[in-house]
Amino acid sequence: MINSSLKQLGTLLAEKKISSVELTQQFLDRIDQHNPEINAYIALDKEITLAQAKAADQRIAQGSATALTGIPIAQKDIFVAKGWQTTCGSKMLENFIGPYDAHVIKQFDTAGAVNLGKTNMDEFAMGSSNETSYFGKVQNPWDRSRVPGGSSGGSAAAVAARLCAAATGTDTGGSIRQPASLCGLSGLKPTYGLVSRYGMIAFASSLDQAGPMAKSCEDMALMMNVMTGFDERDSTSLQREKEDYTRDLNKPLAGLRVGLPKEYFAEGLGADVAKVIEEAIAEYRKLGAEIVDISLPNTQLSIPVYYVLAPAEASSNLSRFDGVRYGHRAAQYDDLMDMYCKSRAEGFGAEVKRRILIGTYVLSAGYYDAYYLKAQQIRRLIAQDFEEAFKHCDIILGPTAPSTAFKAGEKADDPVSMYLQDIYTIAVNLAGLPGMSIPAGFTQTVDGKSLPVGLQIIGNYFDEARMLNAGHAYQQVTDWHSRMPEGIA
Ligand code: GLN
Repeated sequence: MINSSLKQLGTLLAEKKISSVELTQQFLDRIDQHNPEINAYIALDKEITLAQAKAADQRIAQGSATALTGIPIAQKDIFVAKGWQTTCGSKMLENFIGPYDAHVIKQFDTAGAVNLGKTNMDEFAMGSSNETSYFGKVQNPWDRSRVPGGSSGGSAAAVAARLCAAATGTDTGGSIRQPASLCGLSGLKPTYGLVSRYGMIAFASSLDQAGPMAKSCEDMALMMNVMTGFDERDSTSLQREKEDYTRDLNKPLAGLRVGLPKEYFAEGLGADVAKVIEEAIAEYRKLGAEIVDISLPNTQLSIPVYYVLAPAEASSNLSRFDGVRYGHRAAQYDDLMDMYCKSRAEGFGAEVKRRILIGTYVLSAGYYDAYYLKAQQIRRLIAQDFEEAFKHCDIILGPTAPSTAFKAGEKADDPVSMYLQDIYTIAVNLAGLPGMSIPAGFTQTVDGKSLPVGLQIIGNYFDEARMLNAGHAYQQVTDWHSRMPEGIA
């Protein structure tokens, strides 16, 4: 049951082989058993969860179920959810209870899905290892001494340890794809503007996008059907016809032009990861794809550009946490300015402070032109690289991350090496394109552990259905995506 697809679970529920309450209880029991160690969930509310499951059972009985009705989903703690503790992984919001539902939460609710709980994450989604969370680090279920990736590390660990049927994540520079890669699951960052950011706590608004984290592309297609759609409460939400993301899943891949960017296979990519990716590409060749060499010449600039733009936006977005309206307020202070300073000094962790300092600096008079403006110009060049590349191919394949899961603590004191985790993912956010990671195989550690490797699939704007088709076809001829870590059964 725990390894069943969303479609299989939907059938079991429809045929009344299991009720949503029973299914939900099974996952809650698993969470009780494994979460004290894995630490994937930071807020649980069994009363709300089981009430939703009960309501789903009634809906199924009435014959008005949708594809996800009754299915237990984990929500990244970046989404405001009514009545739920909503912390964004920060002490700043430790005691904040959501007064309303984020659009994404509402969409799942309307579909009749069950909210299993809120998942751990890097503080304000800043990180690649989940170690910046105020609520402690998350264990990677494949090797408990390693990180699950970040910032959606709690969601990734929850899916990998089968502590939910699927989960949501958000991706500003790689936070869905990199943890999906490190935990052996499928994760998709949609085209910017497809999923409403309403009620999703803002990090870098021009880059942030929510998406599904699941066991397979088929599961992700079903979740995309729920998550996407116009929302007037987000000014960057796109007004487009609703799509059915399952529509192309079973199309043959013959003739699909697959681009391999030479910059993604250069220095910096681990040899063990490269080998797995090459085998995956060979599989695509067998499926009838035509392989084309392409170049994304500005790839190297994506990290420096991102670490100007994302902190700039973050410094502005996080100014709202001043201890006045919500969030942490220092117990003792002299005057208003002192209250702001102490509340922010106490409420934010080191990485968040680092970003606020960088962001404020690059936006300051005298430096704006040299850093922020320049970064915006290079951002355009990076988008143009992709525009040129997509004249020669339909999708782009490459690694998601340069390495497999690293040991907890290994990079914690070296921000630049941590930032390099996103070397293959960040350009996609800067261009606003969709990107996805799917399991493509394993490497072996010296102590005999298998660590998953993610294959990244990048598509042109709004080409998610084609990407899911490419991923699904691969998942029909491989079984990497259905493997489970040892010791979680
Ligand atoms: N790792 C990147 C960062 O720390 C990306 C985070 C994200 O996508 N939310 O900013």
